[in-house]
Amino acid sequence: MNKNIPQKVIHKYLRHHKKFPHVWCSGCGNGIILGDLLRAIYNLKLDNDDIAIVSGIGCSSRMPVYIDFNTLHTTHGRAISYATGIKFTKPNMKVIVITGDGDAAAIGGNHLIHAARRNIDLTILVLNNNIYGMTGGQCSPTTYRGDIATTSPYGSIEADFDLCELAYSAGAGFVARTTAYHTTEARKIIEKAIMKNCCSIVDIITQCPISYGRMNNMADPVEMLKWQRDNTIPIKAFSKLPKEKTEGKIPRGILYDLDKPTFIDEYEKLSKRLMQNSENSEEKK
Ligand code: SF4
Repeated sequence: MNKNIPQKVIHKYLRHHKKFPHVWCSGCGNGIILGDLLRAIYNLKLDNDDIAIVSGIGCSSRMPVYIDFNTLHTTHGRAISYATGIKFTKPNMKVIVITGDGDAAAIGGNHLIHAARRNIDLTILVLNNNIYGMTGGQCSPTTYRGDIATTSPYGSIEADFDLCELAYSAGAGFVARTTAYHTTEARKIIEKAIMKNCCSIVDIITQCPISYGRMNNMADPVEMLKWQRDNTIPIKAFSKLPKEKTEGKIPRGILYDLDKPTFIDEYEKLSKRLMQNSENSEEKK
């Protein structure tokens, strides 16, 4: 943690008098990532009123309830569509989506793909714990093949999504991956994602010891954090290592950072062109 940050920073942002205690289980990664997000916002010196935090449904999607920004806790899978509406109405506002892997990649999968395709200037943080935690431990699109879930009691036979490759292929301008274990890295990536003017999608691997861990012989959150440490490799090292050393490992860090026009850039260009056309035809009359 940055030593320059006073302890009371937490009180600046949390609705701790009104909304606590929170619903998260002991050992859940959601609180760690909430801390990373708040430290990122603090470091960027953003005003609370200039930020909108939007979520769908799920354990991680409870996050906006606890923090004192402009917040929307919306319907399952639809956070990105609400966030898009806010961004178009308030283009200068920093709009951050908090979503889980089920919320973002299953029921909200089309919203994710099309926000990336249109490169809408949103920061989308996917808290990826590889399971539907809140609704009872069903298999999600990022549950690893072979993992146990309530809907795959003999082990999942499905291929899992690589959220970062999905986001990049769909067109997002900024794509990164980090984990709950790597808190300093996570904070720095979140800062970059917020400040980058494009669709920024961050896959944050996190632990659900209750719904995922207990079914997969990893109920101890410390073991789950160690798994994140031991099974991910910074992208710079990853790209230099021979294939046998990266087999089964997950690259993390900023994977894609591209300069490409956002939807709002294109919309403003179109508006100017239409205004110009209209002025030209007025002059001709
Ligand atoms: Fe966290 Fe899992 Fe508990 Fe949900 S069920 S609060 S994701 S540990």
